[in-house]
Amino acid sequence: MIVAIDGPAASGKSTVARMLAERLGFAYLDTGAMYRAVAVEALRRGIALDDSEALGALARSIGIAFEHEGGSALPTRVTADGRDVTAEIRTPEADAAVSPVSAEPRVREAMVAQQRREAALEPDTVLEGRDIGSVVLPGAELKVFLTAAGHERARRRALDMAARGTPMTEDDVLAKLESRDRYDSTRVSSPLVRAADALSLDTTCMSVQQVVDAISAWVEERR
Ligand code: C5P
Repeated sequence: MIVAIDGPAASGKSTVARMLAERLGFAYLDTGAMYRAVAVEALRRGIALDDSEALGALARSIGIAFEHEGGSALPTRVTADGRDVTAEIRTPEADAAVSPVSAEPRVREAMVAQQRREAALEPDTVLEGRDIGSVVLPGAELKVFLTAAGHERARRRALDMAARGTPMTEDDVLAKLESRDRYDSTRVSSPLVRAADALSLDTTCMSVQQVVDAISAWVEERR
């Protein structure tokens, strides 16, 4: 079964999708990490973020891999052409570069092709992103659209940032999340959108456990 989890920035997709995959024994694909890997590689190579030709060529040629160290069921590292970018893709610089890079249709074409290939390898996969249910795998058996109030998303992301050693105020985090959501929702090529047949879940007042329980119940109903 394919489970597609989409939603705005910091709505809890990664935490929930990882726990869900672990609980169900499903594979897990973080498609945001793929766009982030292209973005940090573009920054490293000095490619202008509006150079669609160069970004497209980079996205087509780059080898993005998820590694499972120590036999871990969930991926523990992301590499771009063999270089470990796990920490780099979560920096404020990566946050700022990823929306323009992912808005580039040639980048999306390359990433979506890889995402479909990865999903085809494993019959049971949880994928998370912005366009999984709408574009990447519209035939997914279960589509979930996760949301949460802005202040709660900012609170969660500020905790993450502090834990990574790059603290930011919740107001700054909220401003950046809202600007990224605006960019992602208004781009021409597969914008962030709730698929018509996606089940919406507002997680503002829910614990991670409650969200995972709710989605697991939907999975069981479809088995
Ligand atoms: O999910 P995450 O916040 O890591 O995604 C980073 C960025 O990657 C998003 O803000 C969006 O610009 C892009 N993205 C996308 N399509 C996806 C997943 C992520 O455009 N399926």
